[in-house]
Amino acid sequence: MTNPSAPPAPPHNVSANRALRLLKHATEHKYAVPAVCVYNLEGILATVQAAKAKRSPAMILLFPWAQSYSGMLLARAAAFSAYTAGAPVTVHLDHAQSPQVIKEAADMCIMLPAGQGPDKKVIKRRCFDSIMVDMSHHEHEENLSLTKELTQYCHDCGIAVEAECGRIEGGEDGVSDTADLEGMMTSPEQAIEFRDTGVDWLAPAFGNVHGNYGPRGIQLEYDRLEKIGQAVGTGMPLVLHGTDGFDEARYQQCVKAGIVKANINRVVNQRLTKEWKEGKGGLTSVVEEGTKGMQEEIEILMDWLGSSGKAFPQDEA
Ligand SMILES: [Zn+2]
Repeated sequence: MTNPSAPPAPPHNVSANRALRLLKHATEHKYAVPAVCVYNLEGILATVQAAKAKRSPAMILLFPWAQSYSGMLLARAAAFSAYTAGAPVTVHLDHAQSPQVIKEAADMCIMLPAGQGPDKKVIKRRCFDSIMVDMSHHEHEENLSLTKELTQYCHDCGIAVEAECGRIEGGEDGVSDTADLEGMMTSPEQAIEFRDTGVDWLAPAFGNVHGNYGPRGIQLEYDRLEKIGQAVGTGMPLVLHGTDGFDEARYQQCVKAGIVKANINRVVNQRLTKEWKEGKGGLTSVVEEGTKGMQEEIEILMDWLGSSGKAFPQDEA
């Protein structure tokens, strides 16, 4: 039996990872980092602008769809925007479901300006701070061994890794359809098995569902979430997928039960399509109104998650 009180330390090469630092800060200060699923430049701009306006940490989430749709363009735009923002914003690849996609993303780099005046130079940086290695469509043993192998690959690149333990039901725009696979609640024992593959944080299934919650409504097992947290130890952040229809009280209950990162999709992206559908005037003003609307939604979520005002001074320079 593994000792539940002793999570393995991340390998030294990811210890300086920015995303890990964000989640450590959220754990210590009991709030959750909003992780916004984006599909376009507007989502990237809105997330960064909201982070600056609210002095909040944030993550930009891209799906592998971004790679198939735009090659490296969206990832590079997200990375450039996040790492020159003067705010604690990181870039994450969500639900990466094949070794090829994961390795390609881990290898993606961007050149960034550094320093000023005559000392100005250019530095090379990985586009992603973190990747969700999602092998949940494989059988349990295969899932564990692929997760372990791909986590090592990412760590060698200095990239932190998220894994889904159990299986979160439902589908999400931009993620391969696994709707034929039944959801599976995470047990504390399972969470320990995943922790021991070397991943940096976990996305448990405790009643949460991707996309619409349907007629059954939202029924979360906070007890289960707390037990998972106790089993894996406080060094292992827990993250939330499936927040459609959540209100402030629901988010706060999740934070209280141990969630430190909340993935957000529909409420923000629907606002963009609404603004664009109803927009009047020239294209530039319609586009700008869409971005502004998304930013407003993200700022509300930052207040609800308790992340507003939690930016660290060294990231605002
Ligand atoms: Zn998800």
